Amino acid sequence: MRRALVTGITGQTGSYLAESLTAHGWEVHGAVRTVGEEARSGAPELHVADLTRPDEITTVIERVRPDAVFHLGGLTSVAESWADPAAYAVTVGGSTAAILAAAKRLTDAGHEVRVVNASSAEVFGRAVDQPQTARTAIAPVTPYGAAKALGHHLVQMYRAGGLPAANGILYNHESPRRPLAFVTRKITHGVAQIAAGRAETLTLGNLDARRDWGWAPDYAEALRLAADAPDDYIIATGVSHSVRDFVAAAFAAVGIDDWQPLVRQDPRFMRPNDAPEQRGDPSATEAALGWRRTVGFEELVAAMVAADLAALDEGATSAD
Ligand code: GDP
Repeated sequence: MRRALVTGITGQTGSYLAESLTAHGWEVHGAVRTVGEEARSGAPELHVADLTRPDEITTVIERVRPDAVFHLGGLTSVAESWADPAAYAVTVGGSTAAILAAAKRLTDAGHEVRVVNASSAEVFGRAVDQPQTARTAIAPVTPYGAAKALGHHLVQMYRAGGLPAANGILYNHESPRRPLAFVTRKITHGVAQIAAGRAETLTLGNLDARRDWGWAPDYAEALRLAADAPDDYIIATGVSHSVRDFVAAAFAAVGIDDWQPLVRQDPRFMRPNDAPEQRGDPSATEAALGWRRTVGFEELVAAMVAADLAALDEGATSAD
């Protein structure tokens, strides 16, 4: 039985990945930040490793001796990375350095450890290429993107040195498990509240930003497959939509066509250096891994709205 260690196992994509790895016969271990943090499912064994202290993840890797580390943990907010860039550099970039070094030590000692790193579309910054490929220049424009770029480059260096390490360059990936801090879930939760008569308006930032939104469980599958073919992979749908398109689709899902009067814009939610468009070309990934997304944009929006409506019916206020 192959043994996996998943950082970020309690997060959206880590939880889907843990479920998929378990279903595919892996023994799954998870790294969590604090004792008592509950994994959703698929994680028989949890280990404490605070990613602000890279030595802790090193110790866990040495103790668990996994066949693969899937590194999804770390701080996740592009907007908040401006407030604490040092914390992002350490938890996102520094943790990847520690994981690669530990994997290399064990591999050199005869126990091979593969590494799959969750890289990000943010490493491309305001990319000139549309769509981006794995060869697009790394030129981040946010502290989050810079921290991801450090991990991304380190993976490439260790791979060149013989370690089986992969970058999954994840574009925005969404599901009902997405926290409310992300625009998709903020929209679907807000639209469900409006449809139920519990809120009157939805307040957002930049409606013109275009993102390539995919289904998080599909992206977890791509990360799982990347373990056996270490390379850099664009994990995207190839199609971008504006935030405005997402808003319109979410309101359409509850039968509201005239949504403009219900949406406010507030500069509080505008960001410095917000990339106008991120869109990835998944064709090389599809060819190399035999991977394909299973859920498209309309279905994704409808599924998230339906989950938020169902959560309202159950009396829950937050699904994450
Ligand atoms: P990110 O790409 O990982 O930062 O994911 P987000 O879902 O947080 O943001 C996606 C896009 O939505 C960015 O271009 C944001 O500027 C834009 N956006 C517009 N309004 C909002 C908002 O109210 N909240 C968030 N989080 N993003 C917003």
